[in-house]
Amino acid sequence: MAVKREKEFLGSGVSPGVVFGQALKLDNRNRAILKMRVDDVEEEIRRLLNAIEQSKAQLAVLKSRLEEKIGSEHSVILDTHILILEDQTLRNEILDGIRKERANSEWAVTRAMKRIVRAYESLEDEYFREKHNDIEDVMERVLLNLSGDRPFSWDNLPGDLILVSRDFHPSAFATMDLQKVRGLVLELGGRTSHTAIISRGLRLPAVMGIRDILPSITTGDALIVNGDDGQVILNPTQKRMQRMRGRIEAFGTTASYVLEKSGQTTLTRDGTAVSLRANTELPYELEAAKRCGAEGIGLFRSELLFFGHPQGLPSVEEQCSSYRELVREMKPHTVAIRTLDAGSEKVFDGEDYSGQDNSAMGLRGIRLSLKAKDMFRSQIEAILRSSSDGNIEIVLPMVSTVEEIWQAKSLISEVRESLRENSDLELRKVPVGAMIEVPAAVFSLEVLAKEVDFLCVGTNDLIQYMLAVDRENPHVAYLFQPLHPTVLHCLARIADVAANLKTPARICGEISSNPFYAVLLLGMGYTQLSMNPLSIPAIRRVLHEVSIDDSRRIAEKALTFVTAHEVCRYLTDAVSKLVKTDLAYYAREIAAPNGKS
Ligand code: PEP
Ligand code: MG
Repeated sequence: MAVKREKEFLGSGVSPGVVFGQALKLDNRNRAILKMRVDDVEEEIRRLLNAIEQSKAQLAVLKSRLEEKIGSEHSVILDTHILILEDQTLRNEILDGIRKERANSEWAVTRAMKRIVRAYESLEDEYFREKHNDIEDVMERVLLNLSGDRPFSWDNLPGDLILVSRDFHPSAFATMDLQKVRGLVLELGGRTSHTAIISRGLRLPAVMGIRDILPSITTGDALIVNGDDGQVILNPTQKRMQRMRGRIEAFGTTASYVLEKSGQTTLTRDGTAVSLRANTELPYELEAAKRCGAEGIGLFRSELLFFGHPQGLPSVEEQCSSYRELVREMKPHTVAIRTLDAGSEKVFDGEDYSGQDNSAMGLRGIRLSLKAKDMFRSQIEAILRSSSDGNIEIVLPMVSTVEEIWQAKSLISEVRESLRENSDLELRKVPVGAMIEVPAAVFSLEVLAKEVDFLCVGTNDLIQYMLAVDRENPHVAYLFQPLHPTVLHCLARIADVAANLKTPARICGEISSNPFYAVLLLGMGYTQLSMNPLSIPAIRRVLHEVSIDDSRRIAEKALTFVTAHEVCRYLTDAVSKLVKTDLAYYAREIAAPNGKS
């Protein structure tokens, strides 16, 4: 057998660590298409033909609905789709795949689809080139109907998988067997994308933003994922393996070390208390938060409760049971539940809010909650009910006007009143906070801060909006600069206004997880930082070595520079001189916050 050539790819290392494993390629919907041997070929063919008939019947219903609404001339497109399903050449190609290879229908359909799509894409004529979308639509429908009768199972997969895909929706984490996944490689995405944030929480080395890696990779290929340096090696040679073995083994053994308890409180060298809290999203992270000594959950991202839900929306009871578990487990600390920060992905309250081209600036966060009021009420009710079990807070995401806070508070009061009248639960006071992540919120902070009990500074979005840099777009990743002087002046302003108005302010973005930023934030006046739970021990260790005066001096000086590069050079040097802890990894991270620049 021919030896496969080694090939190296570079992207952004967004979650550290070095791992070795075998590729599992995922399709656009994050499904694995695997070639599996079938025992009964005739039964497999019946399965395929059923799925095709089912698809045709669905298209016929869609067609008649469309005709009722807009007339028959527009439904021709669906006739084309039905004709594709009846095309004998295509059907024979798929049947051949099943018969000759004794393979599963999903694999045979995908193989035929890819071949035709490639053929269309190579055409000169743009009109015909676009036609591959029709083929893909129809075949996706067949695949969906196939998945209904035999849901995808992780049971027979090996335990050293590296997921390779174009994009990866965070909700897919909820449906996979994480014990079997060692690393993640994506063509899209950046360091502050939710998928990257979750990868770090799971200690899953990840490299993102590698353009065009998919065509070079086949499921089963050997891969090294080097999340420290943003490097992926396909078919590593023996020599390479020998060179990397040390780092692969070292990563394997540190995995348990990071979960060691690291004490429960944080004091600076001169005895100032700093509260280090955890950002969580997946159930696994609650355990990590407790073991790493988190002083509460500073931000619970509630999206996965909604996105991972089989019926669409979780009931009040289902939400309550998740929030109650967090509150009980974190006692006596506080748990901040951020209300749904969805973008355009879903249908809520029966209304279809999908299809927004620019969803980061569209109907997301509090804007969506104030439209889909029934859904918002149910989330508020679940949070208020859970308050009888411990300390809980509400955080409103994407606030850009004070009216949004007024409306949300008025809805919260209504729900509270109704609960008081209709239940005998002992409801505690539930503080309400606002995420500060939109420039408008920074510059109207004097008004907003008076309306809430606390502020959560969402630096991931704040940097995105302040610098006009899409946090998911690898093409502009080099401009996503947390140390950009404008960002630093915004953060200093927020700390000053919050201190004058005596409104507590907590940093919740990814920058809290890096000791260099943590020292800078402390110097600006922030004494509450919320972060990936696994970062808490390192931040705690470094803050023990720094005094408030040191950090103030550093922050004051950092605010005098005019480029992120200058700030970075100064900060790396100043903090490294103060602390004994080895900060080399973190220094690389602040020098290239989104991987290679
Ligand atoms: C942020 O924007 O910094 C934040 C904490 O929220 P998210 O990353 O979920 O948008
Ligand atoms: Mg945000």
